[in-house]
Amino acid sequence: MNALIELRNVRKDFGGFTALDDISLTLSEDTASMSAVAGESGSGKTTLARILLGFIPPSRGEVVYRGKDLTRMSGAERRVFRREVQPVFQDPFDVFNPFYRVDHVLHMPLRRYRMASSAAEERAMIEDALSRVGLRPADTLGRYPHELSGGQRQRIMVARAVLLRPRIIVADEPVSMVDASLRATILDELRTLNRDLGISIVYITHDLTTAFQICDNILVLYKGEVAEAGSVENVIGSPKHPYTQLLVSSIPLPDLSQEWGALDVTQVEASGGSAAGSCNFAPRCPQAMDVCRSRKPPKFMPDAARLARCFLHESAPAVPGEDLAGVFRPPDPDGRETI
Ligand code: SF4
Repeated sequence: MNALIELRNVRKDFGGFTALDDISLTLSEDTASMSAVAGESGSGKTTLARILLGFIPPSRGEVVYRGKDLTRMSGAERRVFRREVQPVFQDPFDVFNPFYRVDHVLHMPLRRYRMASSAAEERAMIEDALSRVGLRPADTLGRYPHELSGGQRQRIMVARAVLLRPRIIVADEPVSMVDASLRATILDELRTLNRDLGISIVYITHDLTTAFQICDNILVLYKGEVAEAGSVENVIGSPKHPYTQLLVSSIPLPDLSQEWGALDVTQVEASGGSAAGSCNFAPRCPQAMDVCRSRKPPKFMPDAARLARCFLHESAPAVPGEDLAGVFRPPDPDGRETI
């Protein structure tokens, strides 16, 4: 598998606080994937999104795009990275200038990256991008942000990302501020962009249900570390880590039709921090053992398409990282890669 983007043993500290630790993942160059990074507030998922987008550097580890460390890129390489890895933010209203028509946010990136050779081509590209996200150009262009609904504004932001022909869209809680009636439609549109245009989507969310509905793979974060990762069928359908089990048990199975959130996870966070050198979930874990309080669990591979950072799976092979590529593999001979 050729890697499009890799996080290699990434850690991020803010002052004395570690927001992320020991995160490794790979998105494949060959297969456009649909991957979720799930976790509650404080889990580190937004920090992970910002590192993937190159907005902040890791404190340790590397972010490698097309084989090049972000910190060693030339200006031209950095420009390509910025065009090919596009964000979609939680609150689309923040991105619009209320004094400009919405056309402005669509024209600007095209001009910045010189994507069109004429005004007519620019207009055609914008109309095509709007149509791909279910908006009628005639009903959208020429309007001010306040004249559009939250769902329409968010779709414009997705269209803006699509205009730049990205390889990856990192969508950070893209539907959390959108009416419930439109959420499924916008997520379906992301899935269509993944399938039709070959764009890998990294969907950052607190909502396991929508992750299950649209994604192939999932990485569950707890307090900045990976608790469990693998295919959504495995991780959500049959979770192996006690934290994921707790989260999934709050969703009415098997139809997964209700939004995640019945469980008061803030209680989990408030129930006491973990000591260094122990499992960070031990204070809350109903299955905690003595070893969980004296050692940090490595990542184990309980089956071929998942990893879990938990001593309950100690009999499975231990693995050093994780992979969100959609192609799950056993460790290679030198043990560097994981699943
Ligand atoms: Fe629970 Fe121990 Fe597994 Fe941590 S390592 S999740 S405390 S069983």
